[in-house]
Amino acid sequence: MIKENDIYNVIGVDYTSEGIGVAKVDGFPLFVNNLIIGEEAKVKITKVMRKFALAKIISFITMSPHRITPLIPETIHLSGCQFTQLDYAKEVEYKLSKVNRALRVIGGLDYEVKVIHPAPNPYFYRNKTVLPLAMKKDGTVISGMYRFNTHEIIGMDKTHLDDLRASEVMQEIRPLLKKHNISIYDEKSHTGTLRRVMIRASYYTNDIMVVLISKSKQIENIDAFCADLITKCPQITTIVQNINPQRTNVILGDEEKVLYGEGIISDKIDDLTFLVSSKSFFQVNTLQAEKLYSRAISLANLKESDTILDAYSGIGTITLLAAKKVKKAIGVEIVKEAVEDAKANAKINKIANAEFIQDDAGDFLVKHKKNALFDVVFVDPPRKGLGEVFLTKLLEVAPPKIIYVSCDPATLARDLKTLVKKYKISAFETLDMFPRTAHVESITLLSLITP
Ligand code: SAH
Repeated sequence: MIKENDIYNVIGVDYTSEGIGVAKVDGFPLFVNNLIIGEEAKVKITKVMRKFALAKIISFITMSPHRITPLIPETIHLSGCQFTQLDYAKEVEYKLSKVNRALRVIGGLDYEVKVIHPAPNPYFYRNKTVLPLAMKKDGTVISGMYRFNTHEIIGMDKTHLDDLRASEVMQEIRPLLKKHNISIYDEKSHTGTLRRVMIRASYYTNDIMVVLISKSKQIENIDAFCADLITKCPQITTIVQNINPQRTNVILGDEEKVLYGEGIISDKIDDLTFLVSSKSFFQVNTLQAEKLYSRAISLANLKESDTILDAYSGIGTITLLAAKKVKKAIGVEIVKEAVEDAKANAKINKIANAEFIQDDAGDFLVKHKKNALFDVVFVDPPRKGLGEVFLTKLLEVAPPKIIYVSCDPATLARDLKTLVKKYKISAFETLDMFPRTAHVESITLLSLITP
């Protein structure tokens, strides 16, 4: 029986879905942060759970030839920083194998994916940064990431993922919070004012949005703070206050106030402009998002006479990019604000053949099944994959082609298992949207099998 503080020599055999090293002792999995597949290390058990145990490395016995010094060394000890110690080519290779394994094991599919599009920008790619804050005893404010498996914030001047322009703004914000006596929220006691700071930095435009997420409606000395911040960082185009009074891990609350500027920024995808508000879903890696959408649309091989459906359409990225090539494009999205953004995006880009409907994707297909004659249906669901009702109705509607864009190979493989009853996988490409994390994006072209 494995117990806390036991010491073992183990070999890295795999990674968890979050990119943590996995080793085994008599078949029992140990999750070991920072262990690379193939490495041998002496580890100490730190916690034993029912199905696995956590362990930490005491010393390496052999190191992988693929081990590198992380760009920011402390990231090895932080949550959400997987693969920073692994060379990028090996990360990409692992992600492709992860997708293939999901197809085989979860989907029961005999299909081998060969294409992965690595990211040209494996660092500093995130156009959206949300950092937790903490105040030290001397009143100094730090922002950064959590130490692995804890809620302890490690102060960092910059992270390896976030756009450097956001890190520069954050460096100015921290001392100004101290100067203006703005109190920092403490999640244990649910006291203090400022919970987090979110920064969006557009890739193609120079827009920068700062969102101050506060517990209460009032933030101490907020006017003086904003005036100081804009003087120090004239590159900031808008400042928004988001109020989240709940005791929750959810980052944003419902209520917002614009403190400076327009309260919105814009970015570009291809030749289209997209308005992005604090709450909008916008892919965090703009360059790779462009690649993703262009591959999805290219694989769909759209014709001028086509009518397409974009289910889970967000702010309308895929719908509008496809609309330029087809007769009619319909986007369905459940979040009201996202639908409003999508309509505004259609307007500013002067696209008249796109229609946006606020509905659950499944309910929409139930209501419109009879006249749902779509040539291509694009789906781009959240990590949990397609809803059951949607999947059933999609098989009944049976469009000639489906393009499934997925950010989770496990739920994709599960959904494909159902879809292959009527469809064959005609193309499959993966794409590294989130370098230096365990996540991987996929695009699948499904063609209706004609009897
Ligand atoms: N294709 C878009 C958005 C993808 S994110 C883009 O690339 O920007 C997935 C979207 O699905 C989110 O906007 C989310 O609000 C929406 N969504 C989640 N559940 C849904 C449902 N049941 N029906 C319709 N849309 C849903």
